Order: sequence, then structure tokens, then C-alpha cells
Amino acid sequence: MAIRQIRIDEDPILRKKSRVIEKIDDKIKILNDDMVETMNKAEGVGLAAPQVGILKRLFVIDVGDGPMTFINPTIISTEGEEEDEEACLSLPEQSGLVKRPESLVVEATDLDGTVFQLYCADLLARAVCHELDHLDGILFIDRVEK
Ligand code: ZN
Repeated sequence: MAIRQIRIDEDPILRKKSRVIEKIDDKIKILNDDMVETMNKAEGVGLAAPQVGILKRLFVIDVGDGPMTFINPTIISTEGEEEDEEACLSLPEQSGLVKRPESLVVEATDLDGTVFQLYCADLLARAVCHELDHLDGILFIDRVEK
């Protein structure tokens, strides 16, 4: 495994849309392992592939229960609304209040190629929304209420 460089601030790659992953090959598995290591070292809750310069629809999240991988994720349903403080490894000097769903169901593929659905609440739901935004070139500062 290797630590990858986290793209920050005005790096244009953070504003690009990521592509669907067609095949989960060794390259994707290595990318995943590197992203988990990079996220852990940076003490982040989540990391999306474009944040390490790869425009593919994959992110990893660890809210304290170990790392989870989401490939080609989509949000199936959401419930409620919750405003809370958010930050981002790509925007080291910033934080702000962002409204996100209180809970949601996300569908994604895991590293074995199995499609799964997961109910997420609170911090996990917030992390899924935040990381999914990265795959579409959206940063949390776009959603901070002025
Ligand atoms: Zn982020």
C-alpha cells in the first residue's frame, strides 16, 4: 500500500465529474487500499478517488467501524434534514454548516463486485453525501449556507 497525495484547494481535478467503474480489476483494488491508507493517515472520515487525482466513482469511508468501500454509488432514498459542521481533507483551512439528509439508503458495489444497499444515519449519511458530491465535482463549500 502507498500514501497518495491529496489534491487540495483550487486543484481543477476536484471540480471534474468522475467516470463509472466498469471493471473491478487489480488497479481498482490497489487504488482502494491506497485510499484507505491515505484516509487513515490524514485522520479523515472519508476520501473520494478524485481527491487523489483519479476520476473514478469510488470512495472510502471510516466512521470508526473500519473502512467501507463504495463503487458507483447512488442514493436511493433520503429522510429528514440535519445541519452540522463539515470539513474536507481537500480544503484544509475551511469548515462550515451544511444541511444533509438525516438518513438515507445508498446502493453501491463492493470490491468483490457485489451490489449492496446500506441504510446510513447521522455521520455516516453525511459522509456518504459529502463523498458522493466529490464524484460530481461538488465541494461542501458550495453547500454552506451563507
Ligand atoms: Zn471532502
